[in-house]
Amino acid sequence: MEQGDIFVISAPSGAGKTTLCRRLLADDKRLCFSISHTTRRPRPGEIDGRDYFFVSRERFEAIEKDGGFLEWAEVHGNLYGTSRSQVFERLKEGADVLLDVDVQGARQIRRTFPDAVFIFILPPSWRELERRLYARGSEDSEWLELRLKNAAVELDAVTEYEFSVVNNELETALEELKAIILARRCRTKRVLERAGLAGSLGVQCGRNV
Ligand code: 5GP
Repeated sequence: MEQGDIFVISAPSGAGKTTLCRRLLADDKRLCFSISHTTRRPRPGEIDGRDYFFVSRERFEAIEKDGGFLEWAEVHGNLYGTSRSQVFERLKEGADVLLDVDVQGARQIRRTFPDAVFIFILPPSWRELERRLYARGSEDSEWLELRLKNAAVELDAVTEYEFSVVNNELETALEELKAIILARRCRTKRVLERAGLAGSLGVQCGRNV
């Protein structure tokens, strides 16, 4: 069975990553979202088991101790982690997996999956990032200040990512994201693996493919 690909998406808060990921997942049925565990409390409208698995710090630490996380990190004072079993099972089923993780998590993923696709979502400007964060207003001012401080740190990591998408206009950013994913799926190796094409065409997969 053909194994799926991993797409890692990171962005500072306010870049519009969550909206972009939701749209992408709605339009692309071959892509499945890796639902992270977090110790932060759900925001209004968020659903346990859909947006995150919301767990206590004790539960999170127990999973981590058991080696259950592929990666994990502390972000804005809360713990976030990607479940190892969830990702490996989906990949084995041939699905492509979308991971929404911070830059610390992306670095850990790269160690396990150097061939994963790393995509960074950029805001059109710092001023616009500030505007979006303040408009969101889902946290108090202290939290917003922390997010702005962390955004500067996250932005510093952009050059570690092979791909960047500027989220100025949502539809354009979405098209660019889809193009990155499509290009990945058109790699010769994957095209030949699909539906046993290499065998039926009598093509040998060499070292480069
Ligand atoms: P939020 O609390 O706003 O949903 O997410 C805060 C940050 O945590 C975002 O940068 C998001 O990408 C990151 N994040 C979400 N899930 C994970 C995860 O499983 N691992 C890591 N390392 N970061 C995550």
